[in-house]
Amino acid sequence: MNPTVVSFIYLVAGVLFILGIKGLTKPKTAVRGNKLSALGMLIAVIVTLLDGDVVNYNFIIAGVLVGSGIGAVMALKIQMTSMPQMVALLNGFGGGASLTIALAEYFSKLGSAPESFSEILTPVVATSSNFGSGPEGTIALVSIGLTVLIGALTLTGSLVAFAKLQELMKKSYGLPGGPIGNGIFLVASAVAVVCLVLNPGNTAAMVAIVGLALLLGLFLVMPIGGADMPVVIALLNSYSGIAAALAGFILGNTVLIVAGSLVGTSGLILTQIMCVAMNRSLTNVLFGKMAAGGEVIDADEIYAGKVTSAQPDEVAMMLEMAKRVVIVPGYGMAMAQAQHAVRELADSMEAKGVEVEYGIHPVAGRMPGHMNVLLAEAEVPYDKLVEMERINPTFEDTDVVIVIGANDVTNPMARESEGSPIYGMPILNVDKAKNVVVIKRSLSPGFAGLPNPLFAMDHTVMVYGDGKKAVVEMTTALNQA
Ligand code: NDP
Repeated sequence: MNPTVVSFIYLVAGVLFILGIKGLTKPKTAVRGNKLSALGMLIAVIVTLLDGDVVNYNFIIAGVLVGSGIGAVMALKIQMTSMPQMVALLNGFGGGASLTIALAEYFSKLGSAPESFSEILTPVVATSSNFGSGPEGTIALVSIGLTVLIGALTLTGSLVAFAKLQELMKKSYGLPGGPIGNGIFLVASAVAVVCLVLNPGNTAAMVAIVGLALLLGLFLVMPIGGADMPVVIALLNSYSGIAAALAGFILGNTVLIVAGSLVGTSGLILTQIMCVAMNRSLTNVLFGKMAAGGEVIDADEIYAGKVTSAQPDEVAMMLEMAKRVVIVPGYGMAMAQAQHAVRELADSMEAKGVEVEYGIHPVAGRMPGHMNVLLAEAEVPYDKLVEMERINPTFEDTDVVIVIGANDVTNPMARESEGSPIYGMPILNVDKAKNVVVIKRSLSPGFAGLPNPLFAMDHTVMVYGDGKKAVVEMTTALNQA
């Protein structure tokens, strides 16, 4: 194909990606945004396949069939509650794909592909001119080294994130020395990249980059506590984009550079938003200094003799008298699949003249936007979903807050207890409301593993039980009142 035509079509694909990402910033335009980006990717893939560089379509067709089949089954079967794990896994696959592209390109430019491990370790005579003339060769080598480093790190880091979210790995392990140990691995991998660029035939340097980066990915994510996982997922997402962009430089494919850069930067922006929402600095994230620590808090001391419980029909009486109610959903609402029941309760309250809004914390649930997605599925109007900064000042004028399956994001310790691991994390100040109803099955802690003094406050009542069942019972009692 004519290179100008290819570049123009790539440009169109790039514009579609950008319009798609813009669409994803608002719930109303998100579906269209997703379709635009998918169309851009389809166009990019078709043009790349027709561009004449492909020598053998058989593997590509087999890959498309197997990959699409697995992807379709995963997308259809996956539960909303498991979406973060899926994102983690897909980030890892992205990193792995970039890693293999870089390795294939490296060995093909060196000459014949090695047939055994000892052959891989045998240095060959090569210069940067094997990879392109003049500065192009050096740029290609730097891109290969960095793609391998970031791709391998993203692969193992994402697999650990997946295992943690799937609760396959409950303990947190790390390198002795923590961030310093990770720093040594990072420096050693960077040195190996420099060795490779200086002596491209030094295949042992390539093996060292792969090995060190795979281990670094493990060591970076393993020590990280569950409550910090959203930041890690966003960061790994960004890494997978950076690796893809670098792979674009290796292949000289502009659309891969554009798409990878978009993922890399939007992932970094999301990381920053998540850091603010969870009160973590990016430096802490990068050097793996995030494991929850702080003083041990005794749940008995907080709860003993101070917790009041209520039945759903008692809460219904409270709701009937209220003028303004705020619903605060959390991970438990997702677990109970209670979003439709919650909307029906809100409808019943509104029919009785109660003003109802939803208070949405940016990290409520297990992924960014988790609550928005669930409530949108239950057809709750978008304008009723009020973000933390806007809802917080209204709690003092709120008669009842219904906290359903939310815990950490309402924990006043984040505001008040300096020794607490979540100290400084912005929270929904539900304890400022006149009455608080907390629906959950027990006094068990949330993701951060901490007790919540909100449950023991004088103006709080606990409704113990499955979120959906409790809400349905409240609605029935309210409708009968
Ligand atoms: P939490 O994990 O703090 O609490 C959820 C609560 O839901 C639990 O205490 C549990 O209590 C309750 N629950 C579970 N199942 C049910 C059910 N069927 N019915 C009723 N209640 C139920 O959730 P939050 O949303 O408040 O906070 C999110 C936490 O997750 C934060 O720490 C955040 O940092 C972290 N996180 C967020 C991510 C994101 O991107 N949004 C990603 C990863 C982690 P019980 O067992 O007693 O019922």
